Amino acid sequence: MIKFIGLAFLVILMSSCGSHNSMSPKQVLFQSVSEKDAILLQEGKEKRYCVRCGMDLVRFYKTSHAAEHEGKELQYCSIHCLEEHLGEGVTLKNPRVVDVASLKFISIANAYYVVGSSKRGTMSRVSKYAFADAEEAKKFQKLYGGEIMKFDGAQAKAKEDFK
Ligand SMILES: [Zn+2]
Repeated sequence: MIKFIGLAFLVILMSSCGSHNSMSPKQVLFQSVSEKDAILLQEGKEKRYCVRCGMDLVRFYKTSHAAEHEGKELQYCSIHCLEEHLGEGVTLKNPRVVDVASLKFISIANAYYVVGSSKRGTMSRVSKYAFADAEEAKKFQKLYGGEIMKFDGAQAKAKEDFK
């Protein structure tokens, strides 16, 4: 379903639904990082929040994704929200994901996703955590289970949330 055209990619699929999570702000999650470690790519006063669902990107940082849309950087809390946006048929350039080991953004093309580990997911029952280094992904998998896959596999799992 995906066509890579240079750095741009298109996904055409039908999806709907946008759920909102509300949790106590005091609860520390596996996804959370300290503010100084979070890279926030968007501009303006909403820069700290997922462009789709409005969740706090520092709190859900380890599952954050980013892409360029019409010349603007967009940041998502999760592959779920990225997928929801793609479901509208938009063209997103330079899609990236946070590497859980370094907390830096990497191209989704270079990411190893651990899907379905015992660590809780963001916007999804099936968690998806990405790593730049396959060995780091294996270490995580050893501790928390799950299956290692490239972006396409993780995206296919994310699509299941919309069925
Ligand atoms: Zn979101």
